[in-house]
Amino acid sequence: MKEVILIKNGEISLKGLNRSIFEDKMISIIKRRLKKYGKFTVSKSQSAVYIEPEDDNFDISEAVSAVGRVFGIAAYSRAGFCEKDMDVILKEAPDYLESVLCDVKTFKIEAKRADKKFPLTSPEIASELGGAVLKRFPHLKVDVHSPDIIITVEIREKGAYIRGAQYKGAGGLPTGTSGKAAVLISGGIDSPVAAYLMAKRGLSLFAIHFASPPYTSVRAEEKVKTLLSKVARYSGTIKLAIVPFTEIQEEIGKHCPEDYFTLIMRRMMMRISARVAAENGCLALITGESLGQVASQTLPALAVTDEVSELTVLRPLIGMDKEEIILISRKIDAFETSILPYEDCCTVFTPRHPHTKPKKGQCEAAEKYLDAEPLIERAIAGIEYSFIE
Ligand code: ATP
Ligand code: MG
Repeated sequence: MKEVILIKNGEISLKGLNRSIFEDKMISIIKRRLKKYGKFTVSKSQSAVYIEPEDDNFDISEAVSAVGRVFGIAAYSRAGFCEKDMDVILKEAPDYLESVLCDVKTFKIEAKRADKKFPLTSPEIASELGGAVLKRFPHLKVDVHSPDIIITVEIREKGAYIRGAQYKGAGGLPTGTSGKAAVLISGGIDSPVAAYLMAKRGLSLFAIHFASPPYTSVRAEEKVKTLLSKVARYSGTIKLAIVPFTEIQEEIGKHCPEDYFTLIMRRMMMRISARVAAENGCLALITGESLGQVASQTLPALAVTDEVSELTVLRPLIGMDKEEIILISRKIDAFETSILPYEDCCTVFTPRHPHTKPKKGQCEAAEKYLDAEPLIERAIAGIEYSFIE
């Protein structure tokens, strides 16, 4: 039996008049992501999208897993496709469903007739196919209330679609429909998760990483790129800016009180990020901060970093525990990379007793002998850009 991929829109269906904008964006993302798996056509009905391979060279298994990473999709499945003739359906559907029906004990069939010219009614279709399934798999029983699996048969203009298992989609909103934001990415566990979560809400991503060679190594930069490539599997291509940060950290070390090192460093990161992000069309910054996780993530510390950012700062992990963050990190396959032990610039100049209750005026006083503006300009001039797929 020929196969297609069936996709159910998620939150997009609630978008009223804007719905087609969201839907079209999602479809264009699907088209781009699946291009490498062969030739196919895409069509849409009320709340579903159909992907139909044009020939046998289409790699449907790979295409299905790629579909599982497109935001905006509530559920997806593979479905068998045949001529809309009841005899053909009864002959081909049970064979097609074999792999999903072997492992279950009860089932239910739901039939839907978009093509009202089809000679049988929906209940008749369900009952005939139910009979054929029971005959072919005698271990099964029908359970209309809580079946192990629901098989759906849909009669549409082009033919009949038979669907077994349905998988949960990536959810969220199609990438780009909420605009663009810049994630401050370290090599840690948190920031890739923050990036993934905001991409899920429809943001396309730009990334900024601060590197302090020779204190930080090339391998640390490679690690950041690997982490971004894990996120890019969901978000699509990410442009990355690597900012040289050594001089700024050394100057902070020379001119500022030690207990303010981290805070001033983070304020410099925010100032630079807001500028670079705005130049690259971003409307917000994203960080992986979580309230109280470390000294620089107390409310007063977040406040003194916020105030120097000209852009809104999004912190999707703010209310999450490390364990909750790790679950998502594992889900997006970033965790094993995140725990590789390479130095981040934040860990290079850490004060012995960092301030946890800084005040705005105190930070400004502590920064007094730092000639910030030329340092910022030099760092921005030294940025290296790359694209992560
Ligand atoms: P992560 O696991 O993301 O490294 P963390 O818990 O180690 O986070 P910090 O090191 O205090 O926390 O960093 C807080 C946030 O600051 C990070 O989540 C990230 O958004 C940003 N950040 C930290 N280091 C860098 C860096 N070298 N380049 C860019 N952003 C950074
Ligand atoms: Mg870190």
